[in-house]
Amino acid sequence: MTYQRSSQLFAEAEAVIPGGVNSPVRAFKAVGGTPIFVKSAKGAYLYDEDGNRYIDYINSWGPMILGHAYEPVVTAVTERAKLGTSFGTPTALETQIAALAVSMVPNIDKIRFVNSGTEACMSAIRLARGYTKRDKIIKFSGCYHGHSDSFLIQAGSGAVTFGSPNSPGVTQGTAKDTLLASYNNLENVKTVIEANPNEIAAIIIEPVAGNMGCIPPQKDFLEGLRTLCTANGILLIFDEVMTGFRLAKGGAQELLKIDADIVCFGKVIGGGLPVGAFAARNEIMNLLAPLGPVYQAGTLSGNPLAMAAGLAMLEALNNDTAIFDRLAEKTAYLAKGINTVLKAAKIEFTINSVGSMISVHFDSNPVTDFKSAANGDNETFKKFFHGLLEEGVYIAPSAYETWFITDALTYEDLDFTIAAIEKVAQGL
Ligand SMILES: *Cc1c(COP(=O)(O)O)cnc(C)c1O
Repeated sequence: MTYQRSSQLFAEAEAVIPGGVNSPVRAFKAVGGTPIFVKSAKGAYLYDEDGNRYIDYINSWGPMILGHAYEPVVTAVTERAKLGTSFGTPTALETQIAALAVSMVPNIDKIRFVNSGTEACMSAIRLARGYTKRDKIIKFSGCYHGHSDSFLIQAGSGAVTFGSPNSPGVTQGTAKDTLLASYNNLENVKTVIEANPNEIAAIIIEPVAGNMGCIPPQKDFLEGLRTLCTANGILLIFDEVMTGFRLAKGGAQELLKIDADIVCFGKVIGGGLPVGAFAARNEIMNLLAPLGPVYQAGTLSGNPLAMAAGLAMLEALNNDTAIFDRLAEKTAYLAKGINTVLKAAKIEFTINSVGSMISVHFDSNPVTDFKSAANGDNETFKKFFHGLLEEGVYIAPSAYETWFITDALTYEDLDFTIAAIEKVAQGL
């Protein structure tokens, strides 16, 4: 593969965009090399500016669950654009997608649309604070909830004590209201709650973690959180920005049969356009402005192009009863294939997967939380990443990312991927 044009475009971008990218993970910092500049995509494939083709396992970091340039979404957006791209007034379309989302997801009466997952999580926390009249929140080390101040808090060994900011610009004042706990460690959560009686508004969690690789919740962990929250007047927030409309029609709540109090969405719900949303039962949602005192707004929230894309996506998922089983079967097939070829190459690894989310960790120990996820061999990952890229397989340029399986992937694509991994594994 040649990456000449991408290199040139990256150099040009670096002159006018910090780091040449509008979101840091795109910059290949963790793996080295030049980011691929994509020109177009269709189905399971990306085509870059140098004319290379890749099987895509990033899928825009989640949204493209039905593959790129999915026809009903493209049609919905182009048709809608002709009618005007933004009005700043209500539209019938917003009610249509809201009603469909509410019918698909358990436990929610109302939903509000925003423009990103970050906004959804940020607003969910404000709502939880308004509802409980408490300030503190608990988040889990290694879980990502977007880049708003409250969530950019470092994992520390003193998880019970106050968090410390891990980005300059986040004030100590904000950091002290974010308490950290370890994923899959219920005892740890109990300790944090006991140390802060009647102060915790919400526990926010990725019900299946996807931002430290894919980490499934262990048996009884989420059930335990639910019980703790109910017993202590704490709201349980499921950040389903990644898992929503992906693990099942109703997301992780449906798959794992756990009720959250507030649910956040992003990625799939926008069909590839900038959309986020948060939802809850009436009692909570009715606190939002203009009904209630908790303020939240957005000039482009519920934008008609974005809503048209989201609606076409949700309709497709809602109408295809076999889609989530099909995705899980493809994921299992890929996991089995990778397992076979990496074993044969005598590589130390662990594969985690749930539904259409899968991650490969270069460590033979179980990966159950941020600490164990951080044990993976990053040098091996770098070689693995670049080796696969050369073979025409594009996985996320970080060992902490989940791969996403899309409906557009054929078994031939999966076999191609497994063969590429077999070849790359020889050189690891
Ligand atoms: C991607 C993601 C976010 C942030 O969404 P953006 O649209 O990037 O702001 C929040 N939470 C989770 C779980 C995510 O995967």
